[in-house]
Amino acid sequence: MVRRSGDVTNVKTYIGEQEQSCPFCGSRKVTIEEKDGICFYLCDDCGAVISFQGSEEKEDAARCWNRRAS
Ligand SMILES: [Zn+2]
Repeated sequence: MVRRSGDVTNVKTYIGEQEQSCPFCGSRKVTIEEKDGICFYLCDDCGAVISFQGSEEKEDAARCWNRRAS
């Protein structure tokens, strides 16, 4: 991973090869975040935040994420 000056130091874990890329820009620089009891996908490239109703566990969010048509 390339580190630019000014980057925050926390290491991001992007989605794995088996998961779909961002539906908006096609980037694979997508992380799964968890906040306030809901898991959501966050695209580092375009800033899209995609959450799913009832996705309290990352497994639930991942199931919804990978279920979409394309
Ligand atoms: Zn994106």
